[in-house]
Amino acid sequence: MNDLLATDFRNAPYWWDAAPLAESAGGTPAPAYDAVIVGSGYTGLRAALALARAGRSVAVFDRELPGFGASRRNAGFLGRTLKKSYIDLKAAKGAAYAAAIYRDLMMAYESTLAFIAEEGIECHAVRCGRLIAATSAGHFAGLERELAGMKGDLGLPYEMLPRARLREEMATDLYEGGAVIPDLGSLHPGLYHRGLMERALAAGAAIFGACEISAIEPVPRMRQEPGGRFRVTTAAGKVFARDVVVATNGYTPRSLPWHARRVIPFTGYMAATEELPPALLARQLPNRRTVIDSNLDIDFFRPAPDTPRLLFGGATANGLEDPEAIAALLHGRLRRALPDLADVKLSHVWTGQCAGTFDMMPHIGCHDGIWYGMGYNFAGVPMGSFFGLKIAQKILGLPDAITAFESASFPTLPFYRGNPWFLPLAMRWFARQDSRLARRGAARP
Ligand SMILES: Cc1cc2nc3c(=O)[nH]c(=O)nc-3n(C[C@H](O)[C@H](O)[C@H](O)COP(=O)(O)OP(=O)(O)OC[C@H]3O[C@@H](n4cnc5c(N)ncnc54)[C@H](O)[C@@H]3O)c2cc1C
Repeated sequence: MNDLLATDFRNAPYWWDAAPLAESAGGTPAPAYDAVIVGSGYTGLRAALALARAGRSVAVFDRELPGFGASRRNAGFLGRTLKKSYIDLKAAKGAAYAAAIYRDLMMAYESTLAFIAEEGIECHAVRCGRLIAATSAGHFAGLERELAGMKGDLGLPYEMLPRARLREEMATDLYEGGAVIPDLGSLHPGLYHRGLMERALAAGAAIFGACEISAIEPVPRMRQEPGGRFRVTTAAGKVFARDVVVATNGYTPRSLPWHARRVIPFTGYMAATEELPPALLARQLPNRRTVIDSNLDIDFFRPAPDTPRLLFGGATANGLEDPEAIAALLHGRLRRALPDLADVKLSHVWTGQCAGTFDMMPHIGCHDGIWYGMGYNFAGVPMGSFFGLKIAQKILGLPDAITAFESASFPTLPFYRGNPWFLPLAMRWFARQDSRLARRGAARP
């Protein structure tokens, strides 16, 4: 087993090599803030930055060191699609609603890249393009239908790649061809998060790490200090806030029961290879695109942006916790897809928490006066940044705060309290849907 691990193996995100978690930068909290934010990922920090630049006093609290969550652990793929397919969304909710949602997805994607460029955040953000590799002929047909529908209605570009041309993109014969989406992007999630954090601090936001928020209570109107609508219990004492933002996504605690009942936390798994001979790496992904396969339970691959390694992940929500067992499972996925890398060792293995939702859609809104943005279903790099900005704009009363995503109610299920006991069943259901699609060539379920 240890044959799989490099001598300098670390059970930590690869991204932390270049962007290690920073110590808390906040000191002691003040008695009151205009805005208190729970969670220091992209959602919380993007909201904090916009509010602080508008002159509001802002404190961000994280129960761990700032950036401990998925924002410094993800794969760094930048996309503009949902877990739910466009065709399904259009069939279920109508063409106008689907078009409005996809316009906002596009805006999230473009505005994240524009923000990074304007701020000069050096995080290897590029429009590298993405290969979606079809796991069966049925998936290939379903993919073509979905992408043709999106091109016809929304003008989004793609190119189908038959099996005979797959090796132009990836050193594999595992897939039945695929599709290239030429304009999708990628970045270094750790450096992006660090850049965001530095700018939020420079704008005047206070960021408190290792400081859990355990309760948010409304203050009765007659006893409210000016600007103190909520009393927030932190590990460093109570603070008052006019506005509170919950930005905890896959780490949402049971102490926030309304939110915890609406997100389904699940674990994502990733690994990095040891440094590879550059020519060997270049053969695996010659165009340096990101790759996902077409299954509902995806495998994904990308070159590291800063060193000659391959980063990859998959086997989502499999339940494993032991790093060696995770390494063995992921290495199997690597060998299956990229057999030239069968003998390479892994330098990093790590996990992170994502949040699914019962309608497979991300949600933004305000419940009982408390703002929230969460449920990104594995696509929170652009969407977390976008929702954070939108929440700040809502708090500031700005007209461009509206997004198509806020019109949907945030569903839960009876008796669900935040413990996703049904996840193994859901993953088996996903696998069954994928094989059904493979057999019948039907559209994505
Ligand atoms: C392995 C993996 C790969 C992924 N790949 C991609 C990808 O390629 N592209 C993409 O778009 N998305 C991807 N995602 C999803 C994306 O990373 C997340 O959707 C996004 O980072 C969520 O950001 P956030 O700010 O909402 O939450 P997070 O960054 O998860 O931050 C939430 C924070 O809340 C804190 N918190 C929780 N409870 C409390 C409390 N009571 N008090 C104080 N703090 C609290 C936590 O400590 C945590 O730091 C991936 C996720 C994982 C795990």
